[in-house]
Amino acid sequence: MTKRIAIIGAGPSGLAQLRAFESARKAGVEIPEIVCFEKQSNWGGLWNYTWRTGLDEYGEPVHGSMYRFLWSNGPKECLEFADYSFEEHFGRPIPSYPPRAVLHDYIAGRVEKSGVRKYVQFSTPVRWVSYSPETEKFTVTVKDQKKDETRSEEFDYVVVASGHFSTPNVPYFEGFEKFPGRVLHAHDFRDANEFVGKNILLVGSSYSAEDIGTQCFKYGAKSITFSYRTKPMGFNWPEGFTEKPLLTKVEGKTAYFKDGTSKEVDAIILCTGYQHHFPFLPDDLRLKTNNRLYPLNLYKGIFWQQNPKLIYIGMQDQYYTFNMFDAQAWYARDVILGRLSLPSAAEQDADIKSWRAREEVLANPFEAIDYQTEYMRDLLAATDYPFLDVDKVAALFKEWEHDKEHSILGYRDHSYVSVLTGNQAPVHHTRWMEALDDSLEAFLAIKEAAE
Ligand SMILES: Cc1cc2nc3c(=O)[nH]c(=O)nc-3n(C[C@H](O)[C@H](O)[C@H](O)COP(=O)(O)OP(=O)(O)OC[C@H]3O[C@@H](n4cnc5c(N)ncnc54)[C@H](O)[C@@H]3O)c2cc1C
Repeated sequence: MTKRIAIIGAGPSGLAQLRAFESARKAGVEIPEIVCFEKQSNWGGLWNYTWRTGLDEYGEPVHGSMYRFLWSNGPKECLEFADYSFEEHFGRPIPSYPPRAVLHDYIAGRVEKSGVRKYVQFSTPVRWVSYSPETEKFTVTVKDQKKDETRSEEFDYVVVASGHFSTPNVPYFEGFEKFPGRVLHAHDFRDANEFVGKNILLVGSSYSAEDIGTQCFKYGAKSITFSYRTKPMGFNWPEGFTEKPLLTKVEGKTAYFKDGTSKEVDAIILCTGYQHHFPFLPDDLRLKTNNRLYPLNLYKGIFWQQNPKLIYIGMQDQYYTFNMFDAQAWYARDVILGRLSLPSAAEQDADIKSWRAREEVLANPFEAIDYQTEYMRDLLAATDYPFLDVDKVAALFKEWEHDKEHSILGYRDHSYVSVLTGNQAPVHHTRWMEALDDSLEAFLAIKEAAE
């Protein structure tokens, strides 16, 4: 009997899984029956922008954490799909740091072209998954929002590709309940124009703080204060930016910090990270981790140790993104198709522990990049995913780190060579700090290149 596979989520990870099977099917391989359940009305995951915050039109938590005017925070050359270059999609080389709409177009272009939309049931959140050792099948319960009906189906494998940047981690600080301005989590941030002329406090020192802070500055915030728990981001911040140790309390509009200093602020944005949150999974199937390069209990970072028919894609902390999800999806596909086999439980356990031990001693981002590159190499060597020169990608990531250290407001003005086509990306026509229109049309318009 044909095996059935449920994929939860049609973001870049779920789409990678669809694409992996489709490429096998096109090569003449008989593939299992696939159903992808997606709670949003379109695919693309976080890249599918929504203006909504809080609950969606059906009362479901809004998945989207992306905001208007978001531009890629890493070079597109590092995330390029090895089987679908940017040049193939756009018909010409494009600059290295595209805005969100351009990346969404690219993600969607690949899957539209391979015709996998038929596998996806939109507006259909997965409510619950259970596994029966007797039948060796999963029961997946979903809600069809359009029909307002709940139903259950059985599957042999379940692929969890529901992302992990949507359920905010929200700490409390004394005085929040009386703060006379907005206190929000980055998950609910949508439009920097709301903060024009304001003094903004961003709690956190990772990508969200860095990107939302620089973006608010770009669109006219008066000052940006970052507050860090362990260490400052340490960029060469221009005037208008300050880094402070951890917030201790707010009194009225005054924020106090651990070093005894204070600052009057108009709004507070909590860039305090996200939780891996799987409300549709029972305890014995549920990944419990924080944001790590090598989460525990996942063999190859993919297969649930206690039941490898449960597959997780994209659950790692991410330098690599789209092409890492591909590498994982191709590997998972080949295990499902019986082309690859998993070692004994003891060997899996030893392998996970050795990867994790190496993660524990990483000293800096450059070592972390090498580590995830090694992980990519390991996965890619096992499948027929098209050749991706990860040494070149790693070199680009390191160049990007240096570019950021050199200029946090100017790093997006750089251009890089595509690892796939060997072509140098053109410099964008407008410097990032002056590029206020983030539409696909404005980005792709051909104008005089910036000097
Ligand atoms: C603000 C922000 C900026 C980022 N910027 C970049 C960047 O510049 N470059 C980069 O490479 N990466 C960036 N990322 C990283 C991002 O994680 C990946 O690019 C990518 O979106 C992850 O893909 P995913 O499919 O794993 O998860 P997601 O994109 O989160 O997709 C998961 C999908 O699962 C669906 N889903 C969730 N729960 C259910 C359910 N119960 N039932 C059915 N469907 C469900 C969701 O609706 C969603 O469509 C950014 C992340 C954030 C939050």
